[in-house]
Amino acid sequence: MAAGYAAVRSAVEAAARAAERAPESVKLIAVTKTYEADAILPVIEAGQRLFGENRVQEAAAKWPDLRARWPGVALHLVGQLQSNKAAEALRLFDAIHGVDRSSLVEALAKAIREGAPHRRLLVQVNIGAEPQKGGVAIDGLPSLLAEAGGAGLVIAGLMAVPPVGRDPAPYFALLAKLARRHGLTGLSMGMSGDAELAAGLGATEVRVGTALFGPRQEEKM
Ligand SMILES: *Cc1c(COP(=O)(O)O)cnc(C)c1O
Repeated sequence: MAAGYAAVRSAVEAAARAAERAPESVKLIAVTKTYEADAILPVIEAGQRLFGENRVQEAAAKWPDLRARWPGVALHLVGQLQSNKAAEALRLFDAIHGVDRSSLVEALAKAIREGAPHRRLLVQVNIGAEPQKGGVAIDGLPSLLAEAGGAGLVIAGLMAVPPVGRDPAPYFALLAKLARRHGLTGLSMGMSGDAELAAGLGATEVRVGTALFGPRQEEKM
């Protein structure tokens, strides 16, 4: 496990260097959805401090105990967020990568007005225009960013998951271009199969699960 972790880290760092980027400019988010604490612990012990989950309920069940033992651990929500869980998510996570619609912008802004902490927020873009996938349509991005700004939310960057089975490179490049166009510096892109490619194309955070923890059980997905 620790060896696998070291290999993933150094592959991402090497990809960043090859693109003439500082290796520390690409953060590795270890995505722990469906994995239990016994699988997560060795990775914490190997030095990893940044983790991701895609469900509020699962994170709420799993992470408070682990974070009590390792106060330096940060947790990001990398999946979709229901508006009625906005306040809970702001309390539980250090960053939310799935801001993708007006109703969620409003729910987050309201929760913050009512005392929840403002977190690092990234807008998810439906970069391959896939009907079944979350994320704001590319056409809808400017108005969503304007709405977020109007509601007092600071958007730190963009996040996307390219279509399965296609070359992700053009999608990563497009996301990077959209971020530049809007003056956003955060780029959450790249997963187990394409984290190095993403690191070479400007990712500031890559989200890696199975390459660190092994295959997930189907029924838990
Ligand atoms: C599960 C998940 C990941 C990690 O996927 P792997 O293929 O296991 O690396 C990354 N991003 C999101 C949004 C996820 O849901």
